[in-house]
Amino acid sequence: MSHQIVVCGAGIVGLSTALALARRGQRVAVLAPRAAVPPADPNHYHPRVYAISPASQRFLADIGVWDAMPASRLMPVQAMEIHGDADGQVNLNAWQAALPQLAWIVESGEIERVLIQAVRMFGIAWLEDRCTGYQNGAVDTESGARIQAELFVGADGAASPLREAAGLKHEAQSYNDTGLVVHLDAELPHQGTAFQWFRDDGVLALLPLPDTADGPQVSMVWSMRSELAQQLLELPQEAQTARLEALLAEAAEGRLGRLKVRSKLHGFPLTLERAQMVAPGIALAGDAAHRLHPLAGQGLNLGLGDVEALARIVAGREPYRQAGDLRVLHRYQRARAEPVLAMRLATDGLHKLFGSKATPLVWLRNAGMHWVERAPLIKRRLIAGASAN
Ligand SMILES: Cc1cc2nc3c(=O)[nH]c(=O)nc-3n(C[C@H](O)[C@H](O)[C@H](O)COP(=O)(O)OP(=O)(O)OC[C@H]3O[C@@H](n4cnc5c(N)ncnc54)[C@H](O)[C@@H]3O)c2cc1C
Repeated sequence: MSHQIVVCGAGIVGLSTALALARRGQRVAVLAPRAAVPPADPNHYHPRVYAISPASQRFLADIGVWDAMPASRLMPVQAMEIHGDADGQVNLNAWQAALPQLAWIVESGEIERVLIQAVRMFGIAWLEDRCTGYQNGAVDTESGARIQAELFVGADGAASPLREAAGLKHEAQSYNDTGLVVHLDAELPHQGTAFQWFRDDGVLALLPLPDTADGPQVSMVWSMRSELAQQLLELPQEAQTARLEALLAEAAEGRLGRLKVRSKLHGFPLTLERAQMVAPGIALAGDAAHRLHPLAGQGLNLGLGDVEALARIVAGREPYRQAGDLRVLHRYQRARAEPVLAMRLATDGLHKLFGSKATPLVWLRNAGMHWVERAPLIKRRLIAGASAN
């Protein structure tokens, strides 16, 4: 089998890569097992939600999928309330940067559903198989097929079988933290505010979701030491709910009143990873290329930034060059080097700053928050920086 471009992986990054390339006139196929996305259900919320930045929202609108999502499932974030571990606090509001909203909170399942529909509508070939090997410009699959292409895009997630098979360099370090996610009923309205508490034992985020029939609802992302997270995950259901609600009552300082668990608790091990993004005939995008601590909610946004750059650069290559020409792929690598490094340094730096128990750092991080809170210009910069990925 021979194709011009084959995208390995059908997560949000893989599907949007296929769509963005096809919309720019490239012949593209998706190689991945088909994951079932549950049909839209007003009473069921997908466990995984993303803070989608304005740049990602524009990109998803450009590839024609943003408006296909039901408006009732898109939650605009008007404000952020960020707490330090002492008395430090920063409040960011959309109006401070003359924006209609700072970000959108969207369930993973909603984005996947419209992407799958759009890929089907576009008639993009979907090879239901798995990449298991790579040799001399061809991918071997689980079913024994050998697929040739000018370019393979590795959008096959953090473990990236394509990256491993092709021998692209990759380094990973564990944070020894686990990201716990669950949806909660809140007693008080969130008013479109995302809350975050930087604690010396982890980072707690409560992200606004659309109200349910039971009232206001938020999505919790709590990055905590893996030992504590594991203890919680292993508790029987009733004890787990009681323990989590007790921990939340202390950590969220009653800001949203009583918080009650309304869905199953999931845990994700957190790592800092980066890989060589290109090789002849191969480009990596999304978690296959980099992985960050989720404290800034930017991993997928960075991946969608990869997709936008890759589609623009590959489709805009000189007519005499192939899609997998290393010169073309180096342009992609250069375009992504700075945004990826900047986000890596920012998220890892914040994690280290708040992970330390040293007294001068405790003082510095909270004093720094007071200082930022009184500096409108810095706040505008912070908002602009977070919007651009
Ligand atoms: C707790 C937590 C909270 C987060 N919150 C946010 C947030 O608020 N905002 C944000 O921007 N990011 C967030 N992130 C990051 C975000 O989840 C990831 O960056 C994003 O899901 C990566 O998408 P992806 O498509 O690259 O990878 P994946 O979603 O992992 O998709 C990989 C795909 O590859 C396929 N695949 C695997 N193996 C093969 C194979 N052998 N052959 C073919 N296909 C294969 C899989 O089936 C899958 O479809 C968070 C992460 C965590 C852990």
